[in-house]
Amino acid sequence: MKAERERMVREQIEARQVTDERVLRAMLEVPRHHFVPPHLQDQAYDDSPLPIGNGQTISQPYIVALMTELLELREGARVLEIGTGCGYQAAILAALKAEVYSVEIVESLSIAASRRLRNLGYEVTCKVGDGHQGWLEHSPYDGILVAAAPSRIPPALVEQLAIGGRLVLPVGDVDQQLTLMHRQEEGVHREELIPVRFVPMVGTPDWVH
Ligand code: SAH
Repeated sequence: MKAERERMVREQIEARQVTDERVLRAMLEVPRHHFVPPHLQDQAYDDSPLPIGNGQTISQPYIVALMTELLELREGARVLEIGTGCGYQAAILAALKAEVYSVEIVESLSIAASRRLRNLGYEVTCKVGDGHQGWLEHSPYDGILVAAAPSRIPPALVEQLAIGGRLVLPVGDVDQQLTLMHRQEEGVHREELIPVRFVPMVGTPDWVH
């Protein structure tokens, strides 16, 4: 599978201008085929998302690499992921030597991902919960990555960012935009990057309370 992984990095990721060496190394290292259902293992390195059960998907490799690069994480940075899914994105963050926390709303996915990550040797702290609330206990975060699309930006996530921290997430219902929020002393800078398609974020948005 090493050869498939090298090819994935070269043809899908470097070719689309993801250049951060640490991110490329993490994508080369993490065995993506261990995160997909057994009958889809031979498609694990394809240029596409794949179903992981419960109507959920593991993101396309390029999107994982791009979102990770956008976080600009230093070694030891504290990062929150919303939507653990199968745990692949969390493993990439852990391979970057970040301190990783991950929240998943579907209990069975969280339990399976947590076990898989531990067995593969990735240190990730997982919990079952609604990511709209973030995870206050371990905040502030240098980076927050959201793997499901809310229709608007959950305020709690911006509040739990450190000064200098970055939040990367898909926003929108039908026309989703990959969005980068950069919290600075003076305020929060928002940038819309590319159109994307993620599963919708479920649960209870903050703006309903
Ligand atoms: N990062 C994952 C991608 C999973 S797809 C991976 O590498 O496999 C998105 C995930 O977000 C799904 O598992 C879904 O159950 C979860 N999700 C959806 N809404 C959520 C919410 N409000 N809080 C936490 N997780 C949520």
